[in-house]
Amino acid sequence: MVFIKTSPFLKGRLRGILNPPSFSKSLALKVSHLCHSERSEESVLSPSESAFFVVSLLRMTFEAKPLLREGGRGIGFLNYANIVLMRNTRVTGKRLQDIYQRLMDVYGPQHWWPAEAPFEVMVGAILTQSAAWLNVEKAIANLKAAKALSPQELRRLSPPELANLIRPCGYYNAKAGKLKSLVQWLGECYEDNLNKLFASSIGQLRQQLLSVYGIGQETADSIILYAANKPVFVIDAYTRRIISRIGLAPDSNSYTAYQSLFMENLPADAGLFNEYHALLVYLGKNVCRHRPLCRQCCLQNICHFSFPQNSV
Ligand code: SF4
Repeated sequence: MVFIKTSPFLKGRLRGILNPPSFSKSLALKVSHLCHSERSEESVLSPSESAFFVVSLLRMTFEAKPLLREGGRGIGFLNYANIVLMRNTRVTGKRLQDIYQRLMDVYGPQHWWPAEAPFEVMVGAILTQSAAWLNVEKAIANLKAAKALSPQELRRLSPPELANLIRPCGYYNAKAGKLKSLVQWLGECYEDNLNKLFASSIGQLRQQLLSVYGIGQETADSIILYAANKPVFVIDAYTRRIISRIGLAPDSNSYTAYQSLFMENLPADAGLFNEYHALLVYLGKNVCRHRPLCRQCCLQNICHFSFPQNSV
């Protein structure tokens, strides 16, 4: 059994829209219990009738449809219900695991990060900022052909020479400056020894990386996860879009809030975080696009966004 937190407001709204004949008898009883429980803060549902399942059924009932059609008020209520119910850590963890399993079953391992060595991951993490990976590959191929893919060689190149080599990935002058800054720091602070750098704890490593010009949170976390192989979850625009459409968005839109959602509800496992992020990127690029292809999506029956009018 799982305990689902409710609130007096939610109970009042549920009472207002529930009509047992629309539900199976047993579910109606459970939901009735949810609404009328003497224990005002908690009610009990079986695992198979999790909070998400109940909310999904609500959306399908005759009574819920007029509320949905009303627009803001009805959807606001359902979102409110979801937020309250999904705050239960076990439910959130289960949903995140379920999403991962569905994506893994359909798309399989993504074998990230596509690089031959940790330093190449660090370079790629900077080059991929606002750039398609295909173009980053071309820039890295240029660096390899010029035998320049090492801290020493990148320091030796002049900024215009470096910018010219990485031209395919865009913003090449700015990115040349960022790479220069990275290799300068690596040489001065770690004598180009990545083992020494990666020996730090996740917190220390993150702090140090963030102190380097051109390295923001997503880039730092990509380096920590994919180069240092330490368990930190990378958040990007695809992850935010998918997670908010599914109905698991945290209260705040900040990077930290999204990261905490994963890191507080999943085991700290670098292999899991590696594949999970890569799978979300794959889904975001190919299916959960700006205009989502919900009918092709393996998450459709657990996603709050996939109303017929929103999917193509
Ligand atoms: S069902 Fe649609 S909105 Fe939801 S994750 Fe899939 S593509 Fe995105």
